[in-house]
Amino acid sequence: MRSSISTDSGSAVTARSATGILVARSLLFVSLLVLACPAESIRAADYAFPIAGDRGVLWWEEEHWDGNLAVDIGIHPGFAPGTPERLEFYERDVVAVISGEASRLDNPRGGIAVLLHGDDNRTYYYAHLSESTINEPRRVSRGEPLGQIGRTGTWTQYLDPHLHFAIAAGHQHGFHWAADINPVTWIERTFGLAPARTTTQAYPLAEPSGTPLFGEYETRESFVETEAGNPLLAGTTVVPPRPGRVAVRAPLTGIARIHVDTPLGTRVQITNARAAWSVIISGAIDPIIRHGELVYRESIVGFTEGPLHYMTFHRGRPVDPAR
Ligand SMILES: [Zn+2]
Repeated sequence: MRSSISTDSGSAVTARSATGILVARSLLFVSLLVLACPAESIRAADYAFPIAGDRGVLWWEEEHWDGNLAVDIGIHPGFAPGTPERLEFYERDVVAVISGEASRLDNPRGGIAVLLHGDDNRTYYYAHLSESTINEPRRVSRGEPLGQIGRTGTWTQYLDPHLHFAIAAGHQHGFHWAADINPVTWIERTFGLAPARTTTQAYPLAEPSGTPLFGEYETRESFVETEAGNPLLAGTTVVPPRPGRVAVRAPLTGIARIHVDTPLGTRVQITNARAAWSVIISGAIDPIIRHGELVYRESIVGFTEGPLHYMTFHRGRPVDPAR
C-alpha cells in the first residue's frame, strides 16, 4: 500500500559504491534530465496543505480504512464534540494544493467533491465537502479555497466530518480514475508531517466472530433487511436483553479507531489489516479504549445501555455478520 515513488538518494548511493565515477557521471546526467522536466521541478515549497489553518489539531493515519490509496484528514479524536477546536475544524476550508484547473466531481459515495488538475501534472481529489466554491470548471491558484470540510456522501454517514484526499499521476478525468500516489507519503515528504502512528505491536491474523454484546443480546434487524434499505449501512442491530449498562466487547482482534460525533452515535471500528477484516460498532457507547489501540477479541471496549448497530467488512465490502 506504500507509494511507488522511488527515492533518488537510495539508488544513487548504491550505484556510486558499485562502479565509481563513470556511473556517478551518468547519474548526474539523468538527474539533470529529471530536474529539467517541468513536473519534477516543482518543489515542496510550491504546495499548500489541503486544509487551511492550524495543522496541529489534525489527525490522519497511514492507511485508509478500506485499504484504498487515500487519506482521511480529520480532527484529533481527543477533542470531544462541542469543543472549540472541533467546531473550528468543521468550519475550515479545503484549498488547492497547487495552481491548476478545478472542477466538481460530485458523486453518491464522495458527496460534494472537487477534482483539481494541478500544474504539476497530477490529479487531486477532495471529497465529502459540506459546500464548494467551484461551480463551473475554472483556474484556481495555490491555497485558494475549494470548499469546506464536511461529511456529504454515503461513505461518511458514520464518520466524523473529514477530508477524503487522493492523488493520481497525470490528468485523469471522470469517475473511472485510480489514485496511484500515496497521499500520506506525499504529505510526509512535502510538509514533513507524519501520520498518527498506530501501534507497531504485532497482532495475530483473525476474522470476526460473535457480536459486540457477546452472549446476551437479541437481534432486531438482519443484514438482509438493512442492506435492502442502504447497502452501505448493511449490518445488524443487537439489543441488550434487559435494561442497564452492559459491556461492549471486541468481536475481532485488531486496531481500534474511534469517531465520537456521527449520526449513529459513537463509532468504534476495529480493523485487522493483515486479514483485511473490519468490524464497526455504532451507538450510545462510552468507549474505554483509545484511538489506535490494539484490542483483542472479547476484551471490553466500552459500555452501552441501548441497541448497537453492528457491521462487518471484508476487503472494504460489507459482509453479513451472521454469515
Ligand atoms: Zn476516505
